[in-house]
Amino acid sequence: MLKKIVIANRGEIALRILRACHEMGIKTVAVYSTADRDLKHVLLADESVCIGPPPSTDSYLNVPALISAAEVTDAVAIHPGYGFLSENADFAERVEQSGFIFIGPKADTIRAMGDKVSAIEAMKKAGIPCVPGSDGPLGEDDKTNMEIASRIGYPIIIKAAGGGGGRGMRVVHSEANLLSAISLTRSEAAANFGNNMVYMEKYLETPRHIEFQVLADTHGNAICLGERDCSMQRRHQKVIEEAPAPGITEEIRQRMGELCAKACIDIGYRGVGTFEFLYENGNFYFIEMNTRVQVEHPVTEEITGVDIIREQLLIAAGESLSYRQQDIKIQGHAIECRINAEDPNNFMPCPGTIEEFHAPGGPGIRMDTHIYNKYRVPPNYDSMIGKLIAYGHTRDSAIRRMRMALSEIVIEGIKTNIPLHCDLLDDSAFQAGGTNIHYLEKKLGL
Ligand code: ADP
Repeated sequence: MLKKIVIANRGEIALRILRACHEMGIKTVAVYSTADRDLKHVLLADESVCIGPPPSTDSYLNVPALISAAEVTDAVAIHPGYGFLSENADFAERVEQSGFIFIGPKADTIRAMGDKVSAIEAMKKAGIPCVPGSDGPLGEDDKTNMEIASRIGYPIIIKAAGGGGGRGMRVVHSEANLLSAISLTRSEAAANFGNNMVYMEKYLETPRHIEFQVLADTHGNAICLGERDCSMQRRHQKVIEEAPAPGITEEIRQRMGELCAKACIDIGYRGVGTFEFLYENGNFYFIEMNTRVQVEHPVTEEITGVDIIREQLLIAAGESLSYRQQDIKIQGHAIECRINAEDPNNFMPCPGTIEEFHAPGGPGIRMDTHIYNKYRVPPNYDSMIGKLIAYGHTRDSAIRRMRMALSEIVIEGIKTNIPLHCDLLDDSAFQAGGTNIHYLEKKLGL
């Protein structure tokens, strides 16, 4: 087993990883910026190392500081969490070259999946359904590009191969705007992602976002833990996630699960990962693969009973998966609300001191958070301060428990998006299930 690991992240996910480690008898090293001395996991870790000043470029993205933290503490592995360096192939490579285990896939896999054009190519080869598109990067010839667009049929979307975080995309409704959209997206992509490669896809107008969680070890085993519905989004950021996805039958789950698990074997995948799809009119269209643990992993843990972080650590230690596909049984329903320190009216971040915090509780309620009474939310990072997860035997019961938990929770001193979640839980379309990715923005009048 891994003896000691560096947790190269902050906030709730750092605490989540620390808890899995301590349960497994793995020693932990917390790294923190000077804005984060009071983070809960820093106080609970076996050791901690300050890695720099508040800006993430100088701390959580500071590769030499992270590697030397592993060196000075005699750690054997580095867990990148999500965000920050978790999908940075160069970082994964540096970690392994320095003699440590990177808790994630091989650098080459991260690189291949990080380039959306090569990811789509690999997925097609593995038999995963993709969005009809340009089948590769767009060239410079205007006439060819116009032909590709009319073959696909408007509306289409131009996407940067290196894009991420919902940026580097442009929807085009008619030929009149096509060429300017290609060149704009191309120059934005060059400026933002250091790579001007763009491609074209059919723009799906009312899809849902449905993703499949996979686990793959280094012994040729890969399994799928079912799907999550993450359609409740604002600016491509997920707000509420749930599992299983309303309306997805066991037959569809099995078919897609088998496809995704087989694709993992085909691409030599290692670790935990997520296949993201748009789902429209009963068809799945692959959009990207995330090569790390995701914010919303707890809803899958709740309905399968699998501790995803534990499996991730076991895989990194070279062990076989603890489960075979036939051991995985989906039971009940789980919903996650992302709790952000933000103004519920204008979504502006709202850092500051939490004057009073009372966590909700009761059957089926889980709160993954690093906050506590008098904790100061620093202004330097993502505004997510926790995740509230409700489990029930049915979707209805999960919704009822979530509403109760939202009404119990007390966070004073800062604004949060809890009022938005209360509204959404009372929303009849959400209650019916199966809303598409535009629903929330339409409801908010955006
Ligand atoms: P990123 O890496 O930036 O998250 P994705 O490729 O995952 O980019 O797409 C992010 C979001 O953009 C999707 O969840 C969806 O809302 C929208 N999107 C992407 N591709 C399409 C498409 N072909 N049709 C409609 N919407 C799309």
